[in-house]
Amino acid sequence: MTVHFPFQNSYSALPDTFFARVAPTPVAAPRLIKLNRPLAVQLGLDPDVLETAEGVEILAGKTVPAGADPIAMAYAGHQFGQFVPQLGDGRAILLGEVIDRDGVRRDIQLKGSGPTPFSRRGDGRAALGPVLREYIVSEAMFALGIPTTRSLAAVVTGEHVLRETALPGAVLTRVASSHIRVGTFQYFAVRRDTDAIRRLADHVIARHYPELSGTEQAYHALLAGVVARQADLVARWLLVGFIHGVMNTDNTSISGETIDYGPCAFMDAYDPAQVFSSIDEMGRYAYANQPRIALWNLTRLAECLLPLFSNDQEKAIEEAQDILGAFPDIFSQAYQAGLRRKVGLFTERDGDEALIQDLLDAMAKNQADFTLTFRRLGDAAGNEDRASDVRAQFMDPSAFDEWAKRWRERTGLEPQSAAERQADMHAVNPAFIPRNHRVEAVIQAAVNNDDYAPFEELVKVLAKPYDDQPEYAAYADPPLPDQRVLRTFC
Ligand code: AMP
Ligand code: MG
Ligand code: MG
Repeated sequence: MTVHFPFQNSYSALPDTFFARVAPTPVAAPRLIKLNRPLAVQLGLDPDVLETAEGVEILAGKTVPAGADPIAMAYAGHQFGQFVPQLGDGRAILLGEVIDRDGVRRDIQLKGSGPTPFSRRGDGRAALGPVLREYIVSEAMFALGIPTTRSLAAVVTGEHVLRETALPGAVLTRVASSHIRVGTFQYFAVRRDTDAIRRLADHVIARHYPELSGTEQAYHALLAGVVARQADLVARWLLVGFIHGVMNTDNTSISGETIDYGPCAFMDAYDPAQVFSSIDEMGRYAYANQPRIALWNLTRLAECLLPLFSNDQEKAIEEAQDILGAFPDIFSQAYQAGLRRKVGLFTERDGDEALIQDLLDAMAKNQADFTLTFRRLGDAAGNEDRASDVRAQFMDPSAFDEWAKRWRERTGLEPQSAAERQADMHAVNPAFIPRNHRVEAVIQAAVNNDDYAPFEELVKVLAKPYDDQPEYAAYADPPLPDQRVLRTFC
C-alpha cells in the first residue's frame, strides 16, 4: 500500500515571487498521535493507509508524497498594528491542494515541519502543546458550525524544540480552503507589484468567489465578499464566546475561515473586555474589540486593492470606503440575529435588542458563565422548573429573576411551543466548548505523561457540542476558582 494524495496544485503554479520552494526537514522518530479519519475520507485520502508507517512519515514531513509541490507562502502583515513587510510561512509548508468530495479545493499544509526562507530567527518547529490546542479548538469550531481551518493529523516528531524549556516537538497537518490572507495582498502592495495583486485577486476569485469571474467590477465585489464573510465570521465568534487572540492581518483569511489558532480561548464568565493571550498586553484583541479589528484589517485589504479600482485615485478611495461601510450593518445583523436565536426569539419586535442587551449586561455584572447561561436558558424555555439552573449562573440570582419575567412575557408572544423553543435554542447554544482548563489539562497529560487518553476524550465530546451527552456532563462545567486559566500562550 502506498499513500496516494490526488494533488492538483494551483498556488505553486503562480509566479515564483509568491512563495519559496522548500521541502520539509525530516524528523527523527515520528509517531502518530491522532488522525482525523472522517476528514481524511472527505479529502479523498485512505485513512488506513495514512496510519501506516509511510503515511505517518508523510504527516511528519519525513517523506514528501508523490505529486506534492512543497512551498512556503510569502506574506506580510500588521502584527498588533505594526507593519512587517515580510513574514511568510516560517514554520509551515504547503504540500499541495486536493479537491475534496464536495468539489472544494483544500490546502494540505504541515505546520512545524522545519525552517523555510521565511523563518527569520525561528526554528520552524512547533511544540506539542500548541499543536494539540490547534487540533482541539479548530475541530471544536468546525463542530460548532463556524468556518475554520481543519486538523487532519497530529504527530510527535521524536525531537525536542527549545522554548523556555525543551518541549516535545510536533507537526500538525492543517487543511484550509486556502491559506491566502490579507497579509498576502499586503506583501505585493508594499512592493508596488500591481500585476501580482491582480494575479492574486484573480486566483482568489476563481477559488473562493467563482460567481464573480468575468463580472464587471469583480475586484470591488471581491472586497465586498471578503467584508461580508469576515463580518459574519466575527459575529459567529462572539456568539460562542470565542477570542481569537492574534487578529493580525496575516491571520485574517480571505476565504473567511478562522485561521491560526495560537493563544485563542473561549471565555467562561461573560466579560466583553476579556483577553487571554499573554502577548496581547494592550487588550487590542479583547473579545468585544474583535469586530472593530476585523474592519481595521479589511481596511488594510482595501488599501491593497485600490490599484485595481478606479484609475482616479480619489474615486478609488471612495469606492473602497463605500464597500467597507457595509461592514457594521452586516456584522450587526448577523450578531443580533444570532443573539435572538440564543434567547429563543424567532419573530422581531421593538424592544428585543434592549431585552437581550439587558441580559448581557446582567451576565457581565454577575460573572455569569457565557455558555451555560444560554444553554440553561434553553432548558428553562422547555421547562420552567429549570430556571433555577440559569439563576445559579449569576452571582446575584435576583438579577436573572427580573430579566426572566420580561423574557417570559416576550416569549409568550412567539408562535412556537416551549418544546420547539428549547430545541431551537439548543441547536445554537452549545453545551460544550473547549474550556481553557480542560485544554490545559489535556496538554499537561500529553506533554508530562505521554498520556493522550484525555485528549481523545475531549476531542470526542467536542465533536457533538449541541448534544447534552449526560455521561460527559462534567465537561460542560466552568473551572473551579483554582482551575481557572487566565493566560494562554502560543
Ligand atoms: P503567528 O503569530 O503564528 O501568526 O506567526 C507570525 C510569523 O512568525 C509567521 O511568519 C510565522 O511563520 C512565524 N513563526 C512563528 N513561529 C515560528 C517558528 N517557531 N519558526 C519560524 N517562524 C515562526
Ligand atoms: Mg500566523
Ligand atoms: Mg500562529
